[in-house]
Amino acid sequence: MTSIAPLPRSNASQEQTRPTLSVVVPIFNEEAVIPELYRRMTEVLDKIGESWEMVCINDGSRDRSVEMLRELHDNDPRIKLVSFSRNFGHQIAITAGMDYAQGDAVVIIDADLQDPPELIETMMAKWREGYEVIYAVRADRRGESFFKLWTARAFYRLLRRITDVDIPLDTGDFRLMDRRVVVAMRRLREHHRFMRGLSSWLGFRQVGVPYERAERYAGETKYPLRKMLRLTMDAITSFSYLPLRLATYFGFSLAAVSLIGILLTVALRLSGNNAFEGQATTLVAVLFLGGIQLIFLGIIGEYLGRIYDESKDRPLYIVSLAYGFAGVEDTPPPAVNLEEPHAVVD
Ligand code: UDP
Ligand code: MG
Repeated sequence: MTSIAPLPRSNASQEQTRPTLSVVVPIFNEEAVIPELYRRMTEVLDKIGESWEMVCINDGSRDRSVEMLRELHDNDPRIKLVSFSRNFGHQIAITAGMDYAQGDAVVIIDADLQDPPELIETMMAKWREGYEVIYAVRADRRGESFFKLWTARAFYRLLRRITDVDIPLDTGDFRLMDRRVVVAMRRLREHHRFMRGLSSWLGFRQVGVPYERAERYAGETKYPLRKMLRLTMDAITSFSYLPLRLATYFGFSLAAVSLIGILLTVALRLSGNNAFEGQATTLVAVLFLGGIQLIFLGIIGEYLGRIYDESKDRPLYIVSLAYGFAGVEDTPPPAVNLEEPHAVVD
């Protein structure tokens, strides 16, 4: 791998060996949770007793997150840090984490401790049984608003109905993936990513483990309604053509109704009845159809914009700094054209 700014390394002789377990944590302004995250994570992972690394992806944080993570890395080289040049979003941060993770098993987990790290032990047990994707299923969600609960429920059910892949209900991104799955995932470079969906699309031997989703440990949600809506749109457009097909269905239905209307009007006129006379009906019909047409133009636009983004073929993310990856052979994956914009500092 090309490194732009390889600093002299005091421990250059120390060859990096691949750990058994990688834990990927996306970090966006999480200074309030980082110390507790480190404490709980090390406790759990040390208990499991396998070699591990924690790959933190700083997604353009504007608080002290990066400094804190660097400090952790300096004291404990198992903590690794990839820092984006700006905020690229949660799904992209996870993607980068999977690009950089070296482990035979890779866990994706939120920084805010809503996903209990203790579950990783259960996941590892399933992994040893031979499962390749072990996803956490939310049995209970405490401390979240009624609105979020309800919209999340509706979202997963809607998605299941209209998409072509079998995305398990009430699962988040909290999951363990075998290295084979991670390597396969690295080949999926679409820009508008819905990682849960992609994970289902990949297949492999999958199993769910139930867990209780805790409250956020500290700080506030980094997923405002705006980002949730965008994720929903990405999820639907990534896995379903239904919104596009709706135009066809609607067109046929309306044409059928219109035909009946025409026949009916002709029959009424012939029998001397002047019902449906006047401008109001015309105006209503025209405006209604105009509205419907604009809606479907908008839907086509959503898909078109995404096609445009794909055709530009920009890299998914830009890394400004990476700590802890010097000497690592296959990062980033050869499938990604990211050789240059990259500084590995160690
Ligand atoms: N996150 C991120 N980039 C973003 C938004 C969120 O990396 O643009 C991270 C965040 O730091 C956290 C995880 O994604 O580790 C989930 O975010 P959050 O807990 O705020 O979402 P919620 O649980 O409220 O849906
Ligand atoms: Mg959270």
